[in-house]
Parts: sequence; C-alpha cells; structure tokens
Amino acid sequence: MDSFNPMEIRVRTGHFIGGAYVDEGQRRIEVARPSDNVAYSSVPVADAAMVDRAVENARAAFRTSGWPSMAPRERARILRRFADLIESDARTLAPLEAIGSTRPVRDVFVGDVPFTAEGIRFYAEFADKAGGEVAATNHDHLGLTIAEPYGVVAAITPWNFPLVMASWKIGPALAAGNAVVLKPSEMTPFSALRLAELAIAAGVPPGIFNVIQGDGSTTGDALVRHHGVGKVTFTGSTSTGAAIMAACAESGVKPVTLELGGKSPQVVFADASGLDEAARRVATAISSNAGQVCVAGSRLLVERSIAERFVDRIERLFSELRAGPTWRSGTTLPPIISERQAQRIESIVARSVAEGGAVVRCGAARADVDLPGAYYLPTILDVASEQCCAVREEIFGPVLTVQTFDSEEEAFQLAGHPDYGLAAGVHTADLGRALRFARRIEAGTVWVNRYGRSADFIIPTGGYKGSGIGKDLGRDAFEANLRHKSVLIDISK
Ligand code: NAD
Repeated sequence: MDSFNPMEIRVRTGHFIGGAYVDEGQRRIEVARPSDNVAYSSVPVADAAMVDRAVENARAAFRTSGWPSMAPRERARILRRFADLIESDARTLAPLEAIGSTRPVRDVFVGDVPFTAEGIRFYAEFADKAGGEVAATNHDHLGLTIAEPYGVVAAITPWNFPLVMASWKIGPALAAGNAVVLKPSEMTPFSALRLAELAIAAGVPPGIFNVIQGDGSTTGDALVRHHGVGKVTFTGSTSTGAAIMAACAESGVKPVTLELGGKSPQVVFADASGLDEAARRVATAISSNAGQVCVAGSRLLVERSIAERFVDRIERLFSELRAGPTWRSGTTLPPIISERQAQRIESIVARSVAEGGAVVRCGAARADVDLPGAYYLPTILDVASEQCCAVREEIFGPVLTVQTFDSEEEAFQLAGHPDYGLAAGVHTADLGRALRFARRIEAGTVWVNRYGRSADFIIPTGGYKGSGIGKDLGRDAFEANLRHKSVLIDISK
C-alpha cells in the first residue's frame, strides 16, 4: 500500500473499556492530521472518574476472566491469533496509523504493522517460559519463587510510532497474564483502539486490554496515580518520565519502566569501510520519520581527515528526500508532528546559530509542500563547541550537528552526553577500537557499523542516565511484567 485518500478514512473514537466503546467526557481534544493540519476527529478526555472506571474494569477482568490463571499455552495461542489478526488487518491499520501520525503509509504497511504483529508473537512465546524457581534451601524445606503478574499494568505511549510503541508495552504485559490500561498520545489516539478491537476478536477477554483517551496532565496523571494500578510502563520525554516516576512514588511506590529521550552520537572514523554506505546510514539515522525517533543519531562526530567529503555525501542524500504527506506515494520526508514542535526545532536551530556555536551547512528552513503541514528540511549544523544548545538538547527533528575529532580519545570525549545515554553508533574497520568504544560509552545500546534496531526482538532496548530505567523488548521486558513471591515450605515431618 503506497498511498490513500485521507478523506475516505473513518475513525472510531472514544475509550475502549471492558470490550466496548465508551464515548463520554465533558471535554474533548481535537485531533489533527500533521500532514495538512486539518482536524479530522476528536477524543474525549478521560477524567479521574473515567480512569477509575477503566482501571476497576481491568481489575475485575483480571480477577474473574481467567486470563492470569489459564494455561499459559492457551494465553499464548490467543496472543498469536491477535498477532495474525493485526497482520491481516494491515490495509485498515496502515492508513489509520498514517493519517494522524508522521509515518508514511508505505512504511507502516511494510514495516510498522508486521513489526507490531511480530512483537506480540515474540511475547506470546514467553507465556510459559517463566514460572519461577526452586531455591537451594536446607533439605528440611522447599523454597520456591513464583512469578506472578502485577494485576493491572498502566501503559503510556508517545506519538512517534503509535502502533509499535503500544505493542512493546502490551505484548509482554499480556503474555505475563496482566490486564492493561493503555493511554496512547492524544495526538495519535486511534490505531490503539483498532488494536483493542482485534484483541477482543482474537479471544482476549473483555477488560483485559483497555484503551483510554486524554492528555497527560488529566488522564495520564490520574492513571499512573490510581491505586488499582500495579505497575507503570512509559515511553516519552525525559521530563514527563521524571514526573511519572514522582507520581508513582507518591501513590504507592509503584514499579515503573521508563523509555525516554536521547541525543545519540554517531562516530565515524576515517578507516570506516565503505564511506558511501556509512554516509547513507548516518543520513537515514537522522532523517527517517523526520528525525522524530528516540534513537535518532543526531550528533555526527567525524574524523577530521574525511569530514568534508563525508558531510558532502550526507548533504547530497538529504537533498534527495521528498517532503510530502504520509498518504502520498514516494514521501520520504514526512511532516513534523505539529506546528508547535516545528517552531521548537526552529528556535533551537536559531538559538544555536545566534549564540555563535553553530553554522548552517544546509536546511534550517521549511520544506516546500503544497499542504499547510509543518515540513522541515533536513539540516546540517557545523558545531565548534559542545556547549551549543543544538548539541545538548533533544531536538526531535531532522537536525544533524557535526563535530570533528583528530584522535580516538577525543572522539570518546565528545561522544558522551552529560544527561542522555540512549544509543550510540560507531563506524570503523578496527574491531578493537569498536569494542573499546562499546565498553566506554555510557549508552543503553551501541551499534557497530550499523545504526538502528534490527528485527531481533530478543535484544532489549533502554537508556542509561536520563534516557530511562528498565528495558523494552527482549526477555527483560517480559520479566519486568512479573513480580516474584517467595514461598518456604517446612517438609521436615
Ligand atoms: P511526551 O512525554 O510529551 O508524552 C508521552 C505520553 O505521556 C503521551 O501519551 C502524553 O499524553 C503522556 N503524558 C504527558 N504528561 C504526562 C503526565 N504528567 N503523566 C502521565 N502521562 C503524561 O512525549 P512525546 O512528545 O509524545 O514523545 C516524544 C518523546 O518520546 C521524545 O523525548 C522521545 O525521545 C521519546 N521516545 C522515547 C523512546 C524510547 O524507546 N526511549 C521511544 C519513542 C519516543
């Protein structure tokens, strides 16, 4: 699927609680298409009473539906069916995702939808793989640890990959036997509802997977503070993550997984093999989804001897990108999510130039598109000082800062970031150097001679420092949805 007509897309709105749509709420939020800034629907904002209804519904389903107590292989079978339904629903899901997000429909169709389905499948396979352990006790006793679900997991997700981010949360939580209340971003609320419909069709009991709509300050805050929530899992900005962590501490010391922001370096040494290919990787890592990716490789550190040639190549690749709406065939530079976010990008770029820290090599302007969305040209900033705000702040747009280095040690020094540690890339033919880099850099993920996640769900993702706590993906995310009870039995008589 390459394109679609946005006027033909009908969305169902509301909350999804206990297996049915609920469209109540005094306040509504308009939802706009970032591609042309047209409001195409609205969602009700769940207040504390609606959040309570959703959580209590989930708690009741957890207690009575048999989801946590059913044979784990049966739970896995239902989740595999859920994954199959997601995959076969791609023609509905892809435009639904693309219309209100920044994801070009073709990318959603061939990438995000199958990836979402496979993520659910991956976690289905864990359902019967973690029951607990027998402890090495004195033989007068039998000691056990029993792995149990938390009950209700509250999941809060961002707007940049709505389906994929939802699957990383609901997959492990459901497979572990939990009920879920998911609050998607108020900017991209609809594809999650379709997921909830498909879960019901697959046989997930009503109330086990609920979706509530609303903003962060009303709905999100009430959800994470609800006493019926056993665990919180969040993906979004570092400042929101900090607020959520505080709210979890204040409302019953809930465990929390936080996948947060980043300012990830891509380090290119002169010995990197295939500089054309390395340039392509670097360019893609900051321009895909118009840079609105948590692991965007936003800081290029390149060895001085190749810097000019290398950055020229990136500039050429940037010039080949085609700005356009998510529903148009051939779009490779989608819009920025909102006018407000585009203005934020412009302000950081302007400030970094005005303060003397950066020189614009290309971009730093809006792209010309025949629609009123906010399109921003891929931008390269040559930076002299690491104090420059474009180097320090997460921009969340297609802005690449370039710094040069002369030695391995200097590259290491520049690669670290005082606040973030989400991901890092190193491009070199020297294995020892790559491994030294991987050891030294403070980052949750290091990519060597590649940049970006693979389709290997087993590799966890998560940040160091202000980039987060805990992991999505991998075995870690499944285990983070379980708590362990210790049981000691006297068998001496
Ligand atoms: P955001 O923090 O503004 O919002 C994320 C979600 O949190 C939304 O659903 C929002 O409604 C909700 N929210 C806001 N305030 C809240 C509060 N006080 N309590 C509860 N919920 C609240 O982030 P965003 O703008 O949607 O997404 C972009 C950010 O997400 C970037 O910083 C990006 O790096 C990060 N991100 C990280 C990862 C990762 O895996 N580390 C992946 C994707 C995005």
